Amino acid sequence: MKVTDILKRKNATLSFEVFPPKTSDKFESISRAISDIAALRPDFMSVTYGAGGGTSAYTVQISRDIKEKYGVNSVAHLSCISSTRVDVAEKLALLRADGIENILALRGDIPADFAGNMEYRYASELVEEIKAYGGFCIGGACYPEGHPESESLFSDIDNLKRKVEAGCDYLVTQMFFDNDIFYSFLAKVRDAGIYVPVIPGIMPVTNAKQIKRTMALSNSILPTRFRRIVDRYGDNPAAMRQAGVAYATEQIIDLYANGMKAVHVYSMNNAAVARAIKDNLSEIVV
Ligand code: FAD
Repeated sequence: MKVTDILKRKNATLSFEVFPPKTSDKFESISRAISDIAALRPDFMSVTYGAGGGTSAYTVQISRDIKEKYGVNSVAHLSCISSTRVDVAEKLALLRADGIENILALRGDIPADFAGNMEYRYASELVEEIKAYGGFCIGGACYPEGHPESESLFSDIDNLKRKVEAGCDYLVTQMFFDNDIFYSFLAKVRDAGIYVPVIPGIMPVTNAKQIKRTMALSNSILPTRFRRIVDRYGDNPAAMRQAGVAYATEQIIDLYANGMKAVHVYSMNNAAVARAIKDNLSEIVV
């Protein structure tokens, strides 16, 4: 089912993001984690796409398994940074043949040493191409704190508008740790005339090492309230996991309470964390 149809059918949806293995020896263990997450019956699961291309075949395979083996709606990510138009046409044909209905269309991060020829400069060009191909529900990424390369949040939202006009049916946000940042972003997005559904993305941060990596990648601000949790429990993995799940749960409940109908969780193939979040919402997401 298309994500936009899923969103219309329920008052509160919960979805999980997973990533494919980088190498074939990890395929079994990652498949098991993905199957455990699918057993939680999320409204959909999305599967990331390695910018370097190494895991791209697995993205399609895992998206198909989620849908066919586990009976859960799936979204395949597709990034265009090092792709030619021929590569993209091949991927779209593969996704169509496998019955995948949803694509999250991304540019991908440009590697520091990238010297190749970019046939796609921005995700909006990929969105345009998928739209012309027809038949897919197309998602795009957005950034409540601004994309790291953008001059300002406003110029980033101008570019986001172009991407939506190119054919995005819905948007998913980068992670954020302060819901007020998201509410303020959403108001700006609507003021800019962007009316497609915006799904907030929440990352349960459950170990101290993950925090450093996450902050570096996401450009997100870590609020004092969360920083104190890390300072206090960062050296105690079990306590940090419990506190990280509780913090993410509180963010999610606040989002639903403020009228959001969908939340996407960056579950990072951690089935125990996904299950803990789902259990905490057992009377909220039904
Ligand atoms: P774009 O929408 O192209 O934006 C990139 C930058 O270009 C922004 O600063 C934007 O303001 C600017 N820009 C856009 N259009 C124009 C224009 N016309 N003129 C001037 N500037 C412009 N990466 C992966 O490799 N694989 C994944 O599976 C993946 N999944 C993700 C899922 C989500 C929900 C999110 C939020 C990110 C994900 N990423 C993934 C990371 C993403 O690829 C990077 O953040 C990348 O740097 C930007 O991708 P984008 O699609 O947002 O790019």
